[in-house]
Amino acid sequence: MINIALDGPAGSGKSTVAKIIAKDLDILYLDTGAMYRACGLKCKKEGVSVKDEEKVRPIIENIDLKIEYKDGAQVTVLDGVDVSSEIRKPEISMLASDVSALKCVRLKMVEMQRKIAGKMDCVLDGRDIGSFVLPKAEYKYYVTADSKIRAERRYKELTERGETVDFDALHEEIKRRDYNDSHRDFAPLTKAADAKVIDTSEMTARQVADTIISDVKKG
Ligand code: C5P
Repeated sequence: MINIALDGPAGSGKSTVAKIIAKDLDILYLDTGAMYRACGLKCKKEGVSVKDEEKVRPIIENIDLKIEYKDGAQVTVLDGVDVSSEIRKPEISMLASDVSALKCVRLKMVEMQRKIAGKMDCVLDGRDIGSFVLPKAEYKYYVTADSKIRAERRYKELTERGETVDFDALHEEIKRRDYNDSHRDFAPLTKAADAKVIDTSEMTARQVADTIISDVKKG
């Protein structure tokens, strides 16, 4: 079983890199951020604050969330509806970051992630894959880049999709999420001791993916 853990902060290029790796190695790509985004969206739809753990707990315990694959791409299905696009909205990013700090949410999502990773060869991207979800994964990478460069990448991605975004607000949001994600008590964003660090600031996604692929092929 091949499990590749790819962790790092928002905008480090994880998802682009993970998609290339999955395609080249013909394995599955599990975007774990999408799962926390779906949890944030569910709370929003229920009108519950993502910081109110007592109210969030029963919602997440009973969440109808499915990860499916269509033509090799992940489809995130919440209450029977494909929410893959809706969860990408910038307003959902902060909700995801806040809701993901709750232990009850993480335990539930991690259980789903371990089940998927136990069944198939896959590359998972997230914040705590190498350190918490799959501590025994054979291949672990921590990708990072300067926050301004990460904000520029997100800006490009969102504007290309037709969204109107303010660059400075996006940069601030990324820095806030970095802080949030790395300072939460339970399973924070962190580099696993045995993960290889790749600074992607000056690299294309293809170069990062090739670095990882050649490493994995070496075995
Ligand atoms: O990767 P993405 O930006 O889509 O993740 C959204 C949010 O979900 C992150 O800011 C982080 O708070 C949370 N997350 C997490 N653990 C993961 C993946 C994402 O806490 N494994």
